[in-house]
This record gives sequence, structure tokens and C-alpha cells, in this order.
Amino acid sequence: MTWTSPGHECGTEPGPQLTAAHRSPRTVHFGCPLCRLWSAAPGSALGQELDCPRCGLRLKLNPFTIDADWRPIARAWGNPV
Ligand SMILES: [Zn+2]
Repeated sequence: MTWTSPGHECGTEPGPQLTAAHRSPRTVHFGCPLCRLWSAAPGSALGQELDCPRCGLRLKLNPFTIDADWRPIARAWGNPV
């Protein structure tokens, strides 16, 4: 048994970062946990892997979305919203 479970998400582990997207009328929005850039993606991207357009971090969107406004979060992260 070599598996340990520190229970953290620091972004340095291999594999895509699981990221929750926020639903918009025709798109979803997601924030990169590494560089904190918010991007839009088509709804079909849910459950798929994609790369952050800024830092290239491998992200995997959750198949479900958060039904909440993403803009306050993006603004708090320093995005020009
Ligand atoms: Zn990024």
C-alpha cells in the first residue's frame, strides 16, 4: 500500500485538475485554479479535458455545473469582468 491521501488540491499533482464550471445561457465558465484566469467554453466541454489558455494547465471540467453567477468570483480573482 503506497497510496496516501493527504486530501489537498495544490495543483502540483499529475493529471488534470478537476474544475467546476458555472453555467451561462449558452456556454459554461470555468476558472483555472493555477493562474486564476476565467474562460468560457461550450456546454459540450463539460466532462471533458481542456488546457488553460494562459498557463496550459490540464483541466477536467466536472460533468455538472454550478448554478451561480461566476462573475463575482472572477472579479475577486482579479479578472477584468
Ligand atoms: Zn491557468
